[in-house]
Amino acid sequence: MFYLEVCSLYNMQEVFSKEIHASVAMENRIRQLFSYVDVTGRNISDYMEILRAEGKLPCEDKRAGKEALDRLCELLQYDPEDIRKDNLSGSVPALSGNVYKENTGEKKDHGLHLYIEEAVRDNENVKSIAEKLKTNEITYIKHYKDILAKGFSADNRKAAAKSIVLADKTGRLMYEGAPVCQDFGNRHFYYTSCVMNCLYDCEYCYLKGMYPSGIPVIFINLDDIFRETETLLENFPVYLCVSYDTDLMALEDITGYVRRWCEFTKSHRNLTIEIRTKCARTDLWKDMDWCDRVIFAYTLSPEEIINRYEKGTPHLEQRIRAIAVGMESYSSAVNTEGKTYPFRLCFDPMIYVKDWQEMYHNMWESIRRSIDLDHIRDYSVGSFRISDSYLKNMRVRFSETALVQYPYDVVNGYYQYPEKIAEEMESCMERLVSESVPGAKVFRWK
Ligand code: SF4
Repeated sequence: MFYLEVCSLYNMQEVFSKEIHASVAMENRIRQLFSYVDVTGRNISDYMEILRAEGKLPCEDKRAGKEALDRLCELLQYDPEDIRKDNLSGSVPALSGNVYKENTGEKKDHGLHLYIEEAVRDNENVKSIAEKLKTNEITYIKHYKDILAKGFSADNRKAAAKSIVLADKTGRLMYEGAPVCQDFGNRHFYYTSCVMNCLYDCEYCYLKGMYPSGIPVIFINLDDIFRETETLLENFPVYLCVSYDTDLMALEDITGYVRRWCEFTKSHRNLTIEIRTKCARTDLWKDMDWCDRVIFAYTLSPEEIINRYEKGTPHLEQRIRAIAVGMESYSSAVNTEGKTYPFRLCFDPMIYVKDWQEMYHNMWESIRRSIDLDHIRDYSVGSFRISDSYLKNMRVRFSETALVQYPYDVVNGYYQYPEKIAEEMESCMERLVSESVPGAKVFRWK
């Protein structure tokens, strides 16, 4: 016991490996679990003690070793407090340790360097965006992918926070909705990417695993995307998410794309779009050309989650105010009798942390106090999930991030919380909504 306590994490990893007769595949899993222990600051000795108390260590053979490994994974998936409450471990020795490392809430500096593709340097949209950015630091490049290829090293991440690329989007412009995204009951569900990457810096953002670097790339040929949307509309009504790979509202001063999408949607009656955002601006509401088919979907998280995992994004109260002001503007501009307003509240992704029940409950109370919930169009509820390839990239690029190193379950190629945790979190949120707003349309990711 004393020996285990004084061992370094690395030594303990080796000891554990030997004790469970680990194969090469098991070694990989052990490495992943110990990385998670390392970044969360948990005390691995506590977990070894549990395994010993349960008679799972040491192991007679590889089969027993696999059971011990599965059990360690299960224990690490739960917050130590929840293990105590649910008695998941039977006779659990007291767990100690500092569970989560806080993020620093570091803000971005917006002194920008602009990269422009040579082929579009005379494009009017490029000129207008460059003018708004008021920077003398302009570099002309051959292709935006050359800049994106710089990667996610610490230096490149700093540079990415001060850079924007203007480029022409070629090839495919519209994509069918991914299985991890909610379709809200729409049959022809698509998304498009008129901007890649985001000014915000959420730790869990799949963009960090999807693209080779975090530099925002604004595609200046929005008209081509409009044309491709029209082609789809010739065949069927389309539900289109236009702000998945970025936060378009946060970029509105630079691009004006929110207004352009609103105008375009208004003039195409079979089109419904969703603009997903965490942005708290209210200035856009003043002269908004409202359309019921332009849905403003706000991602809301408890303030503690925002501080810890959603760097650079507005506080919960600011987001709530933006929704409340927007709904007020909508109701004064439009005949709203008997109608819901085009506002969606998204509790997605819900993040599993210690005291999550209390945090999400407090968040809901703040929302209830300030937003006219009877007029909210619908709600989205989902716990964090991500495709395996993106998470694998993120684990290499952001090895120090607890949320990324968490031992998720893999189901059909997607990493997600264990079913018990996901179900508990999502049904808790759904219940909070349904109890306050009977008949509310709540969509849960299945
Ligand atoms: S706001 Fe959305 S797109 Fe932007 S970093 Fe956060 S999760 Fe990613």
